[in-house]
Amino acid sequence: MTRFDRVAIVDWSGGNDTGPRPKKDAIWMGCARDGVCEPPRYLRNRTEAEEAIAELIENALKAGDRLCIGFDFPFGYPNGFAEALTGEVDVFAVWDWLEAHVEDTPKANNRFDVAGQINRMFPGVGPFWFNGLRNRDIVHLPRKDTRDGHGMTEWRRAEALAKGAFTCWQVGGAGAVGGQVLTGLPVLNRLRRRFDGQVAVWPLEPLNRPISFIEIWPGLINSVVKEAEAKGGIRDAAQVRLLARAVSRLSADDLDAMLDVDAPEEGWIMGLGHEDKLIAAARGVLQPPPLKDDCFALPAGVDWTPVDEALEMLSQRLHPVVGTRHVPLQDGLGRVLAEDVVARRSNPPEANTAVDGYGFAFDCLGQGDQVLPLVEGRSAAGVPFDGSVPEGFAIRVLTGAELPDGVDTVILEEDVTLGTGEIAFREGIKRGANTRNAGEDVRAGAVILSQGRCLTPADLALASATGIADLSVYEPLKVAVISTGDELVDPGEAARDGQIYDANRPMLLGLAKQFGYQTIDLGRVADDRDALSTALDQAAREADVILTSGGASAGDEDHVSALLNEAGAMAQWRIALKPGRPLALGMWDGTPVFGLPGNPVAALVCTLIFARPAMRVLAGQTWEDPQGFDLPAAFEKTKKPGRREYLRARVRDGQVEVFKSEGSGRISGLSWADGLVELPDGAAKITQGTSVRYIPFGSFD
Ligand code: AMP
Ligand code: MG
Repeated sequence: MTRFDRVAIVDWSGGNDTGPRPKKDAIWMGCARDGVCEPPRYLRNRTEAEEAIAELIENALKAGDRLCIGFDFPFGYPNGFAEALTGEVDVFAVWDWLEAHVEDTPKANNRFDVAGQINRMFPGVGPFWFNGLRNRDIVHLPRKDTRDGHGMTEWRRAEALAKGAFTCWQVGGAGAVGGQVLTGLPVLNRLRRRFDGQVAVWPLEPLNRPISFIEIWPGLINSVVKEAEAKGGIRDAAQVRLLARAVSRLSADDLDAMLDVDAPEEGWIMGLGHEDKLIAAARGVLQPPPLKDDCFALPAGVDWTPVDEALEMLSQRLHPVVGTRHVPLQDGLGRVLAEDVVARRSNPPEANTAVDGYGFAFDCLGQGDQVLPLVEGRSAAGVPFDGSVPEGFAIRVLTGAELPDGVDTVILEEDVTLGTGEIAFREGIKRGANTRNAGEDVRAGAVILSQGRCLTPADLALASATGIADLSVYEPLKVAVISTGDELVDPGEAARDGQIYDANRPMLLGLAKQFGYQTIDLGRVADDRDALSTALDQAAREADVILTSGGASAGDEDHVSALLNEAGAMAQWRIALKPGRPLALGMWDGTPVFGLPGNPVAALVCTLIFARPAMRVLAGQTWEDPQGFDLPAAFEKTKKPGRREYLRARVRDGQVEVFKSEGSGRISGLSWADGLVELPDGAAKITQGTSVRYIPFGSFD
């Protein structure tokens, strides 16, 4: 059974490119691990690509990862070619031959000459055609398809099934793959030698080495690529991202089925005949693996767990449990990013003017006050000046307008005297004044927003400004809330003696909503095991996480803990925390349950301190400690060592007040407070003015 820890897909290119700007006909590489993609990398030429791939391999070897690298060009030619060219029926002899004959630098390569050179070795005309060089004829490489009598088959067996693929004999023309084979195989050959014994080339060798080279073809997932392309961006970048994601998400069985082919000389395209599986994996809503059943287990013999240790355990054992999807930018507000967002375009895309004024070349200025003649026309935002500004001339420019050729400095209109056809201004302006450089804010290719971030309106502005039209986000976390207790009645109902209104459910539903999650109100359940069990079944079916309150202790009527215990996936967390009796953490049918204390004050504190950060991780967000502030106390308290304490608090006149009672049933104190004071685990003596840590409720949002 084949498994890859990491997948990289390389979209090769036979052309030359030395520019820094990502463009479509260059090399792109997409990487994915566990179905999650890194932003595609732009590799501007083959020299750079070879180094990047080598580095990838080195890192994988160091980490002990199995790495699969897919390339979008054939590893072999139609049957018979290897022997005709090298005298051996061996693909790698062709690789060696090409490496010895192909010269390739970022500025120039001899791929057309090599094609002509090979043609000369064959009878008739061909098999390669055609010469794509405008300025030079190549003997034996025709400009038109006049091929005849060369004796080679036109297609590999694989290509008969790959609709729309090009033949590897075609080296000229848009979309042709022939040049990629000629320039790609020497690179693969060098890498194979450089990492001797570590690389297996599929399907020519068994995949029993840490690094696998496979041939893959984006045409197989064309429908998904088209959808992505319609949303904007560079097609090749989308191709490698989607293919990497697809291959990395394939089940072991599907992967094995795709790899099981026999094509010892020609090579094969992975996924051919399994397009539906590949497309589903590229497109599908990604479902993460379930949480481990023992994710809430505590080390044996632990009595009281300090708050920080408990949080550390949660942060390490939980992971996102929600799927991902693409949404249009506009729908991204409040959603959590499932992938890093990479700027497609620089901001600003072009150098432009920051003010209304007049632009000119700084170098044309002499000493003293200046008089410059104006050229006709102007440059305005979105309507650039069509032409260049001669040295010694100035041009009218409006805020946001692209700087015309010949302009690097702008003077504010308020600082000039405008005459007929000329302007005058004082000396002293600095080079580049009042202009913005291209990319001074954001450069194309930079990560602008990181995975796990909850998108704000400003994030949408940044994404839109840098050319992003859609975003990969997590599905919202679904939180089910259940109250337990025979004594509870719902607001609006008549309450008999001994009954109380349910305070926790509206509070917990409200908190989950405030955190940005979808809520499912499952009502209240009597202290009855069967009823509770039925409610938990429903919650596990409908939600990603379950919050219950009440019944979490170890008493006769504490059915939440009893049931979770029976299910065998429960831990009573005795956290050294006040207020908060034991917190019951367990799994019900694969869904995590936070069994919160019944006392409303303890329920709120446990939610903010434990359930909140845990739910953030489940929802795909980053782990984050709430931001607190050290402020002088307006109260006095002697605190015993052993438990961290949270008091209902608020700030008045720069000082922290606490609620008059610490009683954990005092709901009015929760409403009174704007936040919590956090007192350390150890002993503390607080008098007026002692610095204490205050965490506003807003820090938990
Ligand atoms: P328990 O954890 O079930 O023993 O409950 C502890 C205390 O919290 C008891 O006084 C309960 O009546 C009270 N309580 C439990 N659930 C709620 C609720 N949903 N609203 C208000 N008080 C509750
Ligand atoms: Mg109860």
